[in-house]
Amino acid sequence: MLRKLVVGPYQSNCYILGCDKTKVGVVIDPGDEAVRIVNEISKNKLRILYTLITHGHVDHVGAASELRRITKAPVLIHSLDAPGLGFPADGDLHEGHKIEVGSYTIRAIHTPGHSPGGMCLSAPGAVFTGDTLFAGSIGRTDFPGGNHHQLIQGVIMKIFPLGDDIRVYPGHGPPSTIGRERLTNPFFRMG
Ligand SMILES: [Zn+2]
Ligand SMILES: [Zn+2]
Repeated sequence: MLRKLVVGPYQSNCYILGCDKTKVGVVIDPGDEAVRIVNEISKNKLRILYTLITHGHVDHVGAASELRRITKAPVLIHSLDAPGLGFPADGDLHEGHKIEVGSYTIRAIHTPGHSPGGMCLSAPGAVFTGDTLFAGSIGRTDFPGGNHHQLIQGVIMKIFPLGDDIRVYPGHGPPSTIGRERLTNPFFRMG
């Protein structure tokens, strides 16, 4: 199962991804509104194994501390973005990192550019792109540590090859697919 909650003043997408068979799951980007996130977890009778952070901006980590206190699930983030958490991370997310969640595996892909430690999280049929890739747009690269070229290259080399049918779940706004972004996103249209 997949649930999306739009949280906080920046309307960030928090995702709860669970394995229906084993009733375990992960939370991706608890940006705000910990109580709403916890209620959704309870409603789906999930045990949260990890909280995974795509990057260390406050609109994606704002409720991480409270969620950690309630669920006891370790919080994982790339070390370069870990200072954004505001508390010590429980573990480091790195390129190629595999996270077992019941019957499926999530794979972490390092896609810096919006932030130095920006990650995309690849799951069966889906990729969670944080503020790296949006439907029809990309994340800002004018923050400290941002790099436009790096972001574009990362998406082209590591995200597009996941396959056109893969659904894209960004950190803000509606979902898309790799195929749609590859063909229509103005930041990737060549010539
Ligand atoms: Zn961001
Ligand atoms: Zn954001």
